[in-house]
Amino acid sequence: MLRLPAFTYRAPETVDEAVRQIADAGAEGMLVAGGTDLYPNMKRRQFEPKVLVGLRAIRDLGRIAGDRRRGVSVGAGVTLAELAAHPEISEGYRALALAAGSVSTPPLRNMGTVGGNLCLDTRCNYYNQTYHWRKSIGFCMKKDGEICLVAPGSSRCWAISSSDTAPAAIALDARLRLVGPSGERLIPVAALYRDDGMRTTYWKLRRRGSFDFPVLGVAAALRQAPDGAVEDARIVLGAVASHPVVAAEAAGLLRGQRPTADLIARVAQAAFQPAKPLDNADLTIGYRKRMARVYVERALRELAGLPFDGAPGGGAH
Ligand SMILES: Cc1cc2nc3c(=O)[nH]c(=O)nc-3n(C[C@H](O)[C@H](O)[C@H](O)COP(=O)(O)OP(=O)(O)OC[C@H]3O[C@@H](n4cnc5c(N)ncnc54)[C@H](O)[C@@H]3O)c2cc1C
Ligand code: SF4
Repeated sequence: MLRLPAFTYRAPETVDEAVRQIADAGAEGMLVAGGTDLYPNMKRRQFEPKVLVGLRAIRDLGRIAGDRRRGVSVGAGVTLAELAAHPEISEGYRALALAAGSVSTPPLRNMGTVGGNLCLDTRCNYYNQTYHWRKSIGFCMKKDGEICLVAPGSSRCWAISSSDTAPAAIALDARLRLVGPSGERLIPVAALYRDDGMRTTYWKLRRRGSFDFPVLGVAAALRQAPDGAVEDARIVLGAVASHPVVAAEAAGLLRGQRPTADLIARVAQAAFQPAKPLDNADLTIGYRKRMARVYVERALRELAGLPFDGAPGGGAH
C-alpha cells in the first residue's frame, strides 16, 4: 500500500489567512482542496510538500453567486458535483456543467473542486506511476530525472493538460480571481496556462559567490520541438547597462535550428555584442564583456543538454 509522507496540515478559515500561510511556507508549501489529485501524487512522491494549506474550511470559497444575466461567480472550493448540478450553471453555462459532470466518478466529484481541477497537474504515462516504477526506468525530467522518456531528444516535458473544466471555462471566456500576498487580480482563464515548457537558467558572475551583486547576469530560456528544433529562445543580460539588455537578435539565430555546439558559439558571440559594461563595477570591463560571451554559451549549452563548464546560479568568478 502506498503511504502519504509526513506533512503539517494547516486549516485557515479565510482567504487572507490562507494567503499568509502559503506565503510563509514558501517552496515547501502547497494548497490542497479536495485532495483527489494531490494526495495520490504525494503517495507516488511526485510532490513532496512539507506543509499543506487546506482550503476546505474557507466558507467563502464554497459559494456560487449571481445569475446568468449578470454573470455567475464560482468559488474555487465548489465541488464538481455542485457545479454540475447547479441550475444557473447547467442552463447558462452548459459546457462547464457537462465538463464538471464528466470528471471521474461521483465520489471524486463530491470531493474534487473546480479550483483543484483548473490547477490539475499535467499527466503522462511515464510520470503518473509509483516512485519505484519511475525509479526502475530512470525517472524523467518532470520529477527526479534528466530526460523526457516520450521524446528523448527534447529539452521539455510534453505531459498533457488533463483538466475537463479548463477547456470549458476558456470557451466561456471565464475570468479567474488570483489572490496573493501583494493583492489580487483578475485574469482570463486561458492566461493561467502557458505552453511554455521552456527550460530556463540563470548564470551570475560576481567576485564572492555567497554575497555580491552581479557584475554580469545571463538569463536564458529555450523551448524545443520534439525533433530538437528551437521554437522559442530568449537571452537577457544583466549588469551590462542601466537596464536589462534583451539579446533578441542573438536569440533569433536559434529559432528553427537544432542547438549544436557550433550554433551556440555563434549565438554567444552575437549576444555579447550589445553588452557595454563601463568601468563602474567590480572586475575589469574587458573581462566582464568577455564573460558575457562565455556565460551565454554555458547557459545555452546547459539548456540544450550539452556539456558545460562551471555552475549556474551565483558562482564566484
Ligand atoms: C481515479 C481518478 C480519476 C480522475 N479523473 C479525472 C477526470 O476524468 N478529469 C479530470 O479533470 N480530473 C480527473 N481526476 C483528477 C481530480 O480528481 C480532479 O481534477 C479534481 O477536480 C481535483 O480537484 P481537487 O479539489 O481534489 O484538487 P486537489 O487534489 O486538492 O489539488 C489539485 C492541484 O490544484 C491545486 N489547487 C487546489 N485548489 C487550488 C486553489 N483554490 N488555488 C490554487 N491551487 C489549487 C493543488 O495545490 C494541487 O496542485 C481524477 C483523479 C483520480 C484519482
Ligand atoms: S518529461 Fe516526458 S516522460 Fe516525463 S512526464 Fe514529461 S512527457 Fe512524460
